[in-house]
Amino acid sequence: MTHYGCVGRILHVDLTTEQISVESPPVPFYRTYLGGSAMGMHYVLNEVPPQADPMGGPENVLALMVGVVTGAPISGQSRVCSTAKSPMSGLIGDAQGGGFWPAQLKAAGFDGIVLRGRASSPMWLWINEGTAELRSAENLWGKATGDVEDLIRDEVSDQRTQVLQCGPAAEKGVRFGALISSSTRANGRTGMGTVMASKNLRAIAVLGTNQPSLADPATVAALAKQGALQFPHSEVAGLGEYGTAEGLLPLNEEGGLPTRNWSSGVFEGAEKISGERLAETYLKRRNTCHGCIVRCKRVVEISDGDYDVSARYGGPEYETLAAFGSYCGVDDLAAICYANQLCNMYGLDTISCGGTIAWAMACLCLLGTRWPSARWLRPSRSEKASGNSSAKDHKERRKPLVRDRILLWPQRVRSSQPTCPSTSEASLFCTA
Ligand code: SF4
Repeated sequence: MTHYGCVGRILHVDLTTEQISVESPPVPFYRTYLGGSAMGMHYVLNEVPPQADPMGGPENVLALMVGVVTGAPISGQSRVCSTAKSPMSGLIGDAQGGGFWPAQLKAAGFDGIVLRGRASSPMWLWINEGTAELRSAENLWGKATGDVEDLIRDEVSDQRTQVLQCGPAAEKGVRFGALISSSTRANGRTGMGTVMASKNLRAIAVLGTNQPSLADPATVAALAKQGALQFPHSEVAGLGEYGTAEGLLPLNEEGGLPTRNWSSGVFEGAEKISGERLAETYLKRRNTCHGCIVRCKRVVEISDGDYDVSARYGGPEYETLAAFGSYCGVDDLAAICYANQLCNMYGLDTISCGGTIAWAMACLCLLGTRWPSARWLRPSRSEKASGNSSAKDHKERRKPLVRDRILLWPQRVRSSQPTCPSTSEASLFCTA
């Protein structure tokens, strides 16, 4: 029986013993779980002991699963679900990400990967045309995501290689470490990057030419064609033009935009951080995922002013604009783009990171009567003069662009700054 849509192979890697094996589940298994979260959950629920330490390494299981339609020539299908016990909640964690890695995993010959154990030294996993091997990642550890991607592509001598990785933040034990692919796409939520780092695994690189078999290729092609024709005139056409941030202003109108640690749902600076403003200012181009005509992904570039932002690290989506913008009371779009770059470089979930900073700012509010202003790290004058802070020559320099610190400066005296929520309200935020 043909596994239509799927390869019929799941890769199992025990990092403790460095044993690699391939499971070929029967069709009923695929019909039961289909793929994605459900398939990943099958392994996590069956194998992870209830008391397992999610960051302890060996006992936790990290499953990475694509779906039945991943790799098919239709929009929106290139997704990978990551599932494990979460360092954030201690419960099941689940996060999805897009880009090109998911479709390329299937092209490399697998519907998913199950990672167990913990390597004795940093490793990365190379999956190529149905084969897999572990390689040393000593030279990758501690490096920014863009640098790791470059180094792996150079090592395998193929620039088409897609890399999914955790970042330096997860290596250092930040609980909301994300999995990053293409230096821009994140399986952001629930600390799945931290789980990968706890296994001493830095990256998984995939490359292959396998095409998933379709039961009815003619119908799939017809649907794809119809979708492409209808999309520009559909209600979601704005998703392509403004990205997920097309919903920011309507949400603000409804009073649902997280503002100053949720002390409000309306942000007076919403226009300045909207998807529309981003498209008018720093948007360099739109990007897409494998086979998708929507092209909702933002690519920003800033080379003047206080912040150097490289197109290498993409651009902010709604969640990032809200988390580092309204949630923190910040209406400086360039600063938000820069924060997005930091998170993609270091492998941080932008939502948890922005939310944590907003909470810290609410705590600072308890010390004064004004909401603190935020100045995200700015390159020093000497750095700017020497060009060290520029992101343009990132490929040549191949070293982190910025220092990993964020400054929060309380400025209580500026009358133009909004006031804090009342002390009792702020207490609630701070103790939540
Ligand atoms: S480009 Fe946007 S809509 Fe298309 S698959 Fe990627 S995230 Fe989804």
